[in-house]
Amino acid sequence: MSTLKNLIKSASHPSELKALLKFSISEKPKQGEINLAEAALTRSDMAFCFDALTKVSRSFAIVIQQLPQELKEAVGIFYLVLRGLDTVEDDMKLDETEKERLLRNFYKSCYLSDFTLTGIGDTEDYRLLLQHFDKVTRSFIQLKPEYKEVISDICFRMGNGMADSGSYKITTIQDYDIYCHYVAGLVGQGLSQLFSASGFEAEGLASEMTIANSMGLFLQKTNITRDFLEDFEVNRIFWPNEIWDKHHPALSLFKSMPESSTSLKGLNCMIEDAIRHLPDCINYLSQLQNMQIFRFCAIPQLMAIATLVELYDNPEVFRKNVKIRKGLSAKIMMETRDFESTKQMMLHFIEELEEKMQDSKNTPATMWGSICQIKLALGQRLTNPIIF
Ligand code: MG
Repeated sequence: MSTLKNLIKSASHPSELKALLKFSISEKPKQGEINLAEAALTRSDMAFCFDALTKVSRSFAIVIQQLPQELKEAVGIFYLVLRGLDTVEDDMKLDETEKERLLRNFYKSCYLSDFTLTGIGDTEDYRLLLQHFDKVTRSFIQLKPEYKEVISDICFRMGNGMADSGSYKITTIQDYDIYCHYVAGLVGQGLSQLFSASGFEAEGLASEMTIANSMGLFLQKTNITRDFLEDFEVNRIFWPNEIWDKHHPALSLFKSMPESSTSLKGLNCMIEDAIRHLPDCINYLSQLQNMQIFRFCAIPQLMAIATLVELYDNPEVFRKNVKIRKGLSAKIMMETRDFESTKQMMLHFIEELEEKMQDSKNTPATMWGSICQIKLALGQRLTNPIIF
């Protein structure tokens, strides 16, 4: 979207305008300027990896720039290895036996300097990434042994988790938590181990597995809630029955009755389930010592909270992919400095959410308890304690 269009969208939010202008000037490289097929021929292995990162995940490529150089490479390769694995998992045309073999052995393939896969991937960029995956594995091989160990261990666990859950049905909230652990919680845990291994963070962070898992779960659940329509249309179902079947007998009814109170209640319950991980996330952020790592971790969490506020009680979720304004994300990027500024922004978003909850007749009563927990984690004294 053009800068001008984004400026117009933020026109009634003056503090976003400055952030948006500053951000669109400094923001580089531009996604559209990179041609992966060409980069594979002309760029060094590591440079190709960063081009591929920009291509396959623009938001991650931007946030990774926050990290110290040494970690930028380790975390970038970590992301690409898991992206490669996920590309295999997501390819619905791939033979099931072959897929299972690839998923279970991907962690070993990372050590092969000539490992490539042709014809696998849902999009051209994903196909190109796997077609030139030897550039990723050679960069991986160059990393410090401690980093390689972490990346390969997480890849082993995720690949096997994906293979085991080939036709996994997410029925209960526990199933949902397990699924999100494999695809996102493990990423949070691996990142913690990389941070500790780098020496930029305390050794103890690597053993904080529960809160690291929650960091991943919160982001994943936000995406799953937001992407309802997109996923539903390609028959990918991640909303657990235990949450939605109290409201409608079939998922399709959410789509056909976007404005109905029952649809919105179901949506709000998904948001309630996501925010129960926030106290853990706040705890995790409070333990970080390096400010570059802090920003890398805090920015996506803040974006997710802002997204959930936007999604709350919003029938548009069942009509399109609802996103936060570019201006708001630019503002979050600029204003996330340290734990204090992060807590301030979180509190601001939580108060916005509370207002929406108060104004809606579709608010689950139990959700107020989660809001209390979050405010306590943010160190807020409760001025109006809720009586249950
Ligand atoms: Mg997948």
